[in-house]
Amino acid sequence: MRLITNLLRQTALLSTPLLCIAQTGLAAPEKPQASPPNVVLIFTDDQGYGDVGAFGATAFPTPNLDRLAREGRRFTDFHVAQAVCSASRAALLTGCYPNRIGLPGALGPNSKNGISSSETTLAQMFKQKGYATGMAGKWHLGSKPQFLPTRHGFDEFFGLPYSSDMWPLHPEAKPGSYPPIPLLEGDRVFKPDLTPADQEQLTTQFAQRAVKFIDKNKGNPFFFYLAPNAPHVPLYVSEKFKDKSGAGLYGDVIMEIDWAVGEVLEALKRNNLEDNTLVIFTSDNGPWLSYGNHAGSAGPFREGKGTNFEGGHREPCIMRWPGHLPANSICKEPLMTIDLFPTLARLIGAELPTHKIDGLDVWPLLAGPPGARNPHEAYYFYYNQNDLQAVRSGDWKLFFTHTARTMNGQEPGRDGRPGKYRPLPVAASLYNLATDPGETQDVSAQQPEALKRLEELAETIRADLGDDLTNRPPTGARPPGM
Ligand code: MG
Repeated sequence: MRLITNLLRQTALLSTPLLCIAQTGLAAPEKPQASPPNVVLIFTDDQGYGDVGAFGATAFPTPNLDRLAREGRRFTDFHVAQAVCSASRAALLTGCYPNRIGLPGALGPNSKNGISSSETTLAQMFKQKGYATGMAGKWHLGSKPQFLPTRHGFDEFFGLPYSSDMWPLHPEAKPGSYPPIPLLEGDRVFKPDLTPADQEQLTTQFAQRAVKFIDKNKGNPFFFYLAPNAPHVPLYVSEKFKDKSGAGLYGDVIMEIDWAVGEVLEALKRNNLEDNTLVIFTSDNGPWLSYGNHAGSAGPFREGKGTNFEGGHREPCIMRWPGHLPANSICKEPLMTIDLFPTLARLIGAELPTHKIDGLDVWPLLAGPPGARNPHEAYYFYYNQNDLQAVRSGDWKLFFTHTARTMNGQEPGRDGRPGKYRPLPVAASLYNLATDPGETQDVSAQQPEALKRLEELAETIRADLGDDLTNRPPTGARPPGM
């Protein structure tokens, strides 16, 4: 049976462009699909929707990301599953809501849990088809040895086990609250105690690892996950970008991230791999607004990291695969990181895990035939452990009563020290994101049918993943690794 399923999947893979024609009656991507692509996934940290030129940034230049957008496809309604580091990464790498796999929120250096060995990561999925797999950057799915990337499908890893602000030298760290941060290579300590001088070099070093990996594996199919720990605070930049943006340290840091993207693109070009590599760029959550001039911008969207407003979980996303994704195009359909797992599995003909995942194959949204629609009935946004705070379906987003946080009216943070959020009571409210992307007008009173439908959708996920706000226990959640 599995063999037949596999054959059907592979047939579907090879006939993808034809399927698009059949579904829409419109033009297929420019070239037929040749062989399964290499994949480079770039996932930055706390970069806002408005922190890329192609998404509206004007304070600093991002020429390489803008080039990627011209040569590829921009996704303007792209979401992470939770607006905080660990949970967002858990969803990206497993295709599951973080709550399904017991990884909501952010893990600390002393957290005893991490990603379970019974989950399947993107790297393990790629290994099924013989891909070389590598990672450089911030992991944040558990720092005990059994949780590290090399135990979860990555052949190589160079980077940090968790966030670089969980660090004794961070201005906000209370004495004794954090151990030194190790820089890891594989599952060994490369350097035991990260210094400020080391932090300045990380974006460069992670990019160099990506380039080296691409050079080394140019003859095999490969998957590389580049996860810079920038522009998450504390901000550091190498000499080559100090004071270069004219927009302060945050702008300099974004310029260095853009440079790192350029290094990857150049390595692909030099090795003649551009046409056979899908490059994906996005960020793990929106800007950490309490850091003021050390935070980015959510562009036109409300609030930022740590909230379920669009500024928290809507991210700039660009994908490029010449001949397969239409160049210089925009996809305005909603999409979430959980969908990358099944979509990439389909592209390379890999089996999906036997356990439940939440993402769906969204290849038509990447390939771009007009009329392609998102196959999900809804996306669910949880925060604060297992609080279901919002549901999105089509253009509608329904909030449930909860307390968020805001910097509005507060003294802003400055130069690495944060301001203080104040609690923001959020009432049950319905927004139409097509006409009101800034989430300003509650239309629940005028839209009783949409309200009812989203409430019903929320009930289906409450029965499955639970909801602390309504005291519903989960039935379909799996434990994290302990
Ligand atoms: Mg983050």
